[in-house]
Amino acid sequence: MMTELLGHTDAYLKKFKATVVAVDPDEKAVALDRTAFYPGGGGQPCDYGWLDERRVTKVKRQGQHIWHWLEGDLPAEGDTVHGKLDWDRRYKLMRTHTAFHILCGVVWRDYGAQVTGGNMDVLKGRMDFEFETLRKELVSEIEEKLNVEVAAARPVRVKILPRAEAFQIPDLIRTKINLLPEGITEVRTIAIEGLDLQADGGTHVANTREVGTITVAGYKSKGKINKRIELEIGD
Ligand SMILES: [Zn+2]
Repeated sequence: MMTELLGHTDAYLKKFKATVVAVDPDEKAVALDRTAFYPGGGGQPCDYGWLDERRVTKVKRQGQHIWHWLEGDLPAEGDTVHGKLDWDRRYKLMRTHTAFHILCGVVWRDYGAQVTGGNMDVLKGRMDFEFETLRKELVSEIEEKLNVEVAAARPVRVKILPRAEAFQIPDLIRTKINLLPEGITEVRTIAIEGLDLQADGGTHVANTREVGTITVAGYKSKGKINKRIELEIGD
């Protein structure tokens, strides 16, 4: 059975109850029937937290299951456990992740440049673009635009669409939705109202004003076309 990802529809869920469906004593990890822990992916690192009193030190998807690596003794298959996220870390990751959607949206809207990749950590990260015209002089202009979008308090919405419907939306096609595996029948999308739309499995805040202050902390040319923008998020 596939682990149900509770964060897919409620990113603000901090605690949950679940059943252990598999135990791996060698790895010191357990799989649950449902979880609010984010397993990592799409550039967003996994969550930490607790299952009852045991610390969760790593979370990862393997096949159908989401595995939780634990400190201390392991619960048994069939046991009920109470999960609790390290919310301070997760909420900062939600703010950081949303800041990068704002960056994507602004850079596409105002400069027509596409994202090629990215990675994030707590309150910082980087994103790479096919952005030939990016120059150092543009950095402060971009930073200002990002913070305008934060102040605009745009709602951020999760929507799950049938695959065929998602494939009709130009904004989604641009973000390489075509790379989704054949078997996937539904596409989870994240929309920042009036700014950005992406197919995405990560966790985000519900409104851009929750992000805080965005600083462009670095800019690197990775060649004629490819440019990297680094962000830091503050209160
Ligand atoms: Zn995202």
